[in-house]
Amino acid sequence: MDTEKVIIIRYAEIHLKGKNRGYFERVFSVNLERALKGIRHELHRTSGRYLVAKFNEDFTDEIMARLSRVFGVHSYSLGLSVPAEMESIYSAAKTVAPESGTFKVDTHRADKKFPRTSMEINAEIGGRLLAENPALKVDVHAPQSHVYIDVRENGTALVFGKFYEGAGGMPVGTSGKGLLLISGGIDSPVAGYMMAKRGMSVDYLHFHSYPYTNEQAKDRVVELGKLLSRYAGTARLTTASVTHIQEEIHKKCAAELNVTLLRRFMFRIAERVAEKKKDQCLITGESLGQVASQTIEGITSSNAVVKLPVLRPLVGFDKNEIIALSKKIGTYDTSVLPFEDCCTVFLPEFPAIKPKLSFIEEEEGKLDIEALVEEAVAALEVIEF
Ligand code: ATP
Ligand code: MG
Repeated sequence: MDTEKVIIIRYAEIHLKGKNRGYFERVFSVNLERALKGIRHELHRTSGRYLVAKFNEDFTDEIMARLSRVFGVHSYSLGLSVPAEMESIYSAAKTVAPESGTFKVDTHRADKKFPRTSMEINAEIGGRLLAENPALKVDVHAPQSHVYIDVRENGTALVFGKFYEGAGGMPVGTSGKGLLLISGGIDSPVAGYMMAKRGMSVDYLHFHSYPYTNEQAKDRVVELGKLLSRYAGTARLTTASVTHIQEEIHKKCAAELNVTLLRRFMFRIAERVAEKKKDQCLITGESLGQVASQTIEGITSSNAVVKLPVLRPLVGFDKNEIIALSKKIGTYDTSVLPFEDCCTVFLPEFPAIKPKLSFIEEEEGKLDIEALVEEAVAALEVIEF
């Protein structure tokens, strides 16, 4: 076997143990392949690692960026795969070592039959690097650079200089499928990210009130879906109009219940969409107490109209924590573009904060609920991106 440039992928092995291991690994490698689609490469699994080999080196940064968004990746490194013998390891170490400054050789030896111990490898490779380059100095406590050597059990050694932290979590697709109610705002994309991180595939549903909300508002959601699909996998957005529902509520029901009633309709429609798409739960970006409708009473009132579980991964997050996450995952700039969301159309001056279920049901009784839901479901649109 020859020396070759590789990207080393370590996965969070804890999830991959036990009975489900084979299944997890299959899903994980499908996800890795999907992430690397369009860039020439080979993906190999060898003794507890995945290696990206024979890749188009012009796209090294792009590959690294894409890998940073694959859940289940614990860490990854750019380095060399070499035959596990000292001369090859030393040549690789020379290319990985810094040109100057302090460094440390750090060896991990999975192959306990290798004729030298980790300490001996550190000493020999470190010593030879020092002898060759007088601008280098060893510092075992706080080195500026590292040369990592990982002697695998399959007769190869991996040599690299850095560990990059992966996205963590579990491979998307290993925890079922959920339907994310995605607005254009900051919170819901982050909620989708959180569930994808736990291994859930995420479908997207957006409600609009065209012509009260415009096409740009929809474009923004498509853009958010695209950004999110880099993590979550799916690339399809369902949209539903709630215009007629909002007009009916506005005309016939107590103004302070506008938001509460609209949210109940959204949940009913979402459950129908989820049934069609075989989604096992609904996901929202609600956070307790953030706005008037996100009280425990508001949550109770919307949960009351659906049977599916509703996951609210942001329920205990502060707004600034959500904003920090949305910046990290790259959705923030799109989320803050100024377009109208349907929730801001017909917004009452004083929305009910703790609406009583009996009052809600009484007001809702003035509407033909089933016909309105049917009408919205009949006019669903699907956008592929
Ligand atoms: P976000 O930042 O996600 O817009 P928000 O803080 O504006 O949330 P609400 O307007 O109360 O809060 O919405 C709460 C949740 O309801 C959203 O996170 C989202 O999951 C769902 N939701 C709200 N509006 C829509 C919409 N137009 N289409 C789909 N889902 C929506
Ligand atoms: Mg919003």
